[in-house]
Amino acid sequence: MLRGNLSKRLLLTTACLLCSAFFATALTGVAEAKRPYDKPKTCVRDAKRCAEPGVIIGLQDGDQRPVHRKKPRRITPVPVKGAAAPAARPATAPSAGAAEVSPADAAVTIYNRDFELADPNNPAKADNWIDYWRGGYTRVVLAAAAAAEPTSPAALQVTLTGQAGGGGETNVVIGQTETTPVFVGIRMKGQNVVARPSASGWYWGAHLIVEFFGKNAGEYAYCSTPPAAGTFGWRWVGMTSTSCGVTFPIDNIWVEAVLEDATGTAYFDLAQLNIAPSALPIGAVTFQFDDGHISGRTAEDILTARSFVGSQAIVTNWINDDDSLSAADLKRIQGKGWDILSHSLNHPYMSQLTDAQATNQLTRSRTKLQSLGLTVDAFAWPYGDYNQKLVGFAQAIPYTSTRGYFDGDNPILTFPHDVRVHPLTIGIESDTQFTQVRAWLDQAANNHRWAILGMHQIVALGDDEYYNTPGYLTQLADLVKTYVDQGRLRVINYRTGINEFAVLRQ
Ligand SMILES: [Zn+2]
Repeated sequence: MLRGNLSKRLLLTTACLLCSAFFATALTGVAEAKRPYDKPKTCVRDAKRCAEPGVIIGLQDGDQRPVHRKKPRRITPVPVKGAAAPAARPATAPSAGAAEVSPADAAVTIYNRDFELADPNNPAKADNWIDYWRGGYTRVVLAAAAAAEPTSPAALQVTLTGQAGGGGETNVVIGQTETTPVFVGIRMKGQNVVARPSASGWYWGAHLIVEFFGKNAGEYAYCSTPPAAGTFGWRWVGMTSTSCGVTFPIDNIWVEAVLEDATGTAYFDLAQLNIAPSALPIGAVTFQFDDGHISGRTAEDILTARSFVGSQAIVTNWINDDDSLSAADLKRIQGKGWDILSHSLNHPYMSQLTDAQATNQLTRSRTKLQSLGLTVDAFAWPYGDYNQKLVGFAQAIPYTSTRGYFDGDNPILTFPHDVRVHPLTIGIESDTQFTQVRAWLDQAANNHRWAILGMHQIVALGDDEYYNTPGYLTQLADLVKTYVDQGRLRVINYRTGINEFAVLRQ
């Protein structure tokens, strides 16, 4: 029964992702339900993405893009000019905002090898940056366009009018002797970037490609951030080596900041390219409840009895209605150490809204929660429906983190807008389910990762399949407690997870 339901949903989800027309139909159908729930985004494509190097990290704008990028020409790693290893720089805040470097971030060395310096022989080029193979770049010094937009000492400018692609790339020698996760991120912005379909299967838009090389033959992985299009202000894009499937000590990293199969202009902030290795924390678990159903009180009782905290993602227009937690409930649980995330005003498909509507959802839902005396700095996308443009809007609010509904867990140095969830919204108690949960918990414990267990209603019988029974949650909490008692995992709320496992920059 369970397997049947699960398979059916997987098939449906896969079909949806492969066929946009069908997807749109399915979305419309669900949207008419009184209380639409988040669907786990598990699909063949996602599984492939997790299993194989050379694929996109995170969601794309739109769903019909080719997943696999053709393998780029083999780059022979070359020593960094002037130094065998990158010079360590202090972990300074990368832009003008406050508290952008988390404790976990500050505890590690952030390498920025003076990427912004000009080539001594050619001021139009950045030192150590070569032209991307599909086309080059120009090094520019940008004035701040607005008070909130810090001046960049220097940026790569890539302008395309007709050619296939352009950008810059640099090679950073890390020289690891043991496998340690590394975050690679950069700020970028775009002006009038218009993506165009490419018959060759290449990505299009502005994005960051990262190639990880080990010392030995075959130790290689490459990934791309989702390409972005349109006109957008400075935003962080990045990835962790773990997300890219790196399982070897990293010898060197090629970073490629590019605009491909598009027209328009992209800028990449050379002063803000950061590469940060990190030690591994003890693994952690977060009990996450979405939509603010009134049965959150049941969840509260079960977790409190075991000295655990949780997190609630709240649809603000539903607060105080018959089915939902009250403002007093939210104040009480945040007082107990729970985290409150915004989950929009009324749970729309965010990608189907106008820019103004989407920004309104992001802004007003947060303001509403703040007006109730709650601290809120993360957003959970309804239905896990988001794209890079929406992430850019959320970063500007600012939200420290946004969370989708892709199945997976989160390694150290996760990009804070690519946070993953293990969906538990099966609605049926079963041994199979607990076998799966144990595997997730083992993975988080053994690999020092952060596992978010995603749930909705905690009721004996839900409106649909997106619920778990109180008995199920009790068993689940007891199972987690065995890991906690053994010192293998900690139970933390969402905010703590972001502080400890993500690289916090806006
Ligand atoms: Zn939801």
